[in-house]
Amino acid sequence: MAIDFEIPEDAKAMRERVRKWVHDECRPAEKKLLDGGDYKTILGELRAKARAQGLWCPFIPKEWGGMGLGPLANALVQMELGESYLGALSMNTQGPDDATMLTLLQNGTDYQKEKFLKPLLNGEKRICYSMTEKASGADATGMQTRAEKKGNSTYVLNGEKWFSSAASVADIALVMAKTNPDAPRHQQFSTFLVELPNPGYKIKRNIKTMGIEGPLSHILGGGHAEIEIADLEVPAENLLGGEGQGFNMGQHRLAYGRLRHGMHNVAMAQRALDMAVEHISKRSTFGKLLSERQGVQFMIAECASQLYIARLMLMHIAYKAEKGLDLRNENGIAKVYLANMVHKVVDTAIQLHGALGYSQDTPLAAWYTHIRSQRLVDGPDEVHKWTTGRNAIKAFKATGTTASACGGDLL
Ligand SMILES: Cc1cc2nc3c(=O)[nH]c(=O)nc-3n(C[C@H](O)[C@H](O)[C@H](O)COP(=O)(O)OP(=O)(O)OC[C@H]3O[C@@H](n4cnc5c(N)ncnc54)[C@H](O)[C@@H]3O)c2cc1C
Repeated sequence: MAIDFEIPEDAKAMRERVRKWVHDECRPAEKKLLDGGDYKTILGELRAKARAQGLWCPFIPKEWGGMGLGPLANALVQMELGESYLGALSMNTQGPDDATMLTLLQNGTDYQKEKFLKPLLNGEKRICYSMTEKASGADATGMQTRAEKKGNSTYVLNGEKWFSSAASVADIALVMAKTNPDAPRHQQFSTFLVELPNPGYKIKRNIKTMGIEGPLSHILGGGHAEIEIADLEVPAENLLGGEGQGFNMGQHRLAYGRLRHGMHNVAMAQRALDMAVEHISKRSTFGKLLSERQGVQFMIAECASQLYIARLMLMHIAYKAEKGLDLRNENGIAKVYLANMVHKVVDTAIQLHGALGYSQDTPLAAWYTHIRSQRLVDGPDEVHKWTTGRNAIKAFKATGTTASACGGDLL
């Protein structure tokens, strides 16, 4: 049977609705914000409007107030949302909250769902994720923060965290800490739900990064915080998923987050490429439009092919997810590809805009410095490539060919 690339009508219709939503509502609202409008008012109005139209928490099941979209329809929707800073926020599907909502849905107790998940799903609260420490990042098992049980009802946490995105705007933190140093390496860690603000979870600073700080950066993203954890008391009922499960849940949580970044990258890269083509269609040098020069057309072609590959990768992964197939290898390959793709396309758009691209008169410079982080977050490029390389070698040893680790099961 041939592979069917026909997108189901309902998913196509949903994509159109969301595309229109982003163009007609999010982009104008983004402009109002940049012109000095009040963030809470603008986002509040936008969210109320989105929710009234049923555009809310795309992948969350309907019984929990979401749209109940499957992996394919969700991927199509997410690929539209990255076009505006307010796209994902307007539909309450922004990171880092979204992946954590899934973790809570799958692992939370009834109490935890009622107390922590419901306000997140209602858009009343935000949550951050504190795993990385100065002592450990790519290899999270090097984490030093300790959680020790005091009696039966409380854990006490001590240590530090850094690069906890959105911590300064969050009402809840999901904190990972070592509960049992004697357990096997991946079972030493547990995850705790911490209500904020909390004197034991002290935000020392929002770390200055290479990301350009505009009027929107802090209110939208909340920065990346360095945190001191000192005698932080957490009720035992806030332990999520049981002792020793922190690492497994963390990896599962990051699996969706990795793809969501990639999906948003497609929309951003598409917008950057459109901006580049619009610019070269008007700009002449040496008596000729830039768009008529073959060298420039080659640059556009390179971006077009990378965007095409990116879309195919995401569709293939969504297909595998729909069928419940193992997609871990593809996920790792796509995570790296999509981060580098958006980097390449935005860089090309800057190049073709000349000095204007380097200026802050277009959003390109802010995108460029912002997306550089994507080759580091959720596992740096090299760590994913390490796994992909090992998978290819393993496949060769088992079958005499690396094909199954390179999408060869499609052929
Ligand atoms: C903008 C941003 C937002 C973030 N948000 C969060 C968040 O919300 N919550 C959170 O917990 N963390 C967050 N992080 C942290 C992020 O997950 C870590 O930065 C990442 O895991 C890498 O860890 P590290 O920085 O300690 O680098 P290291 O672990 O020190 O690695 C440094 C470099 O060494 C190389 N390397 C590492 N291991 C290998 C290997 N096995 N083989 C080959 N090369 C290797 C890679 O090039 C890597 O970039 C964020 C980071 C950034 C930049």
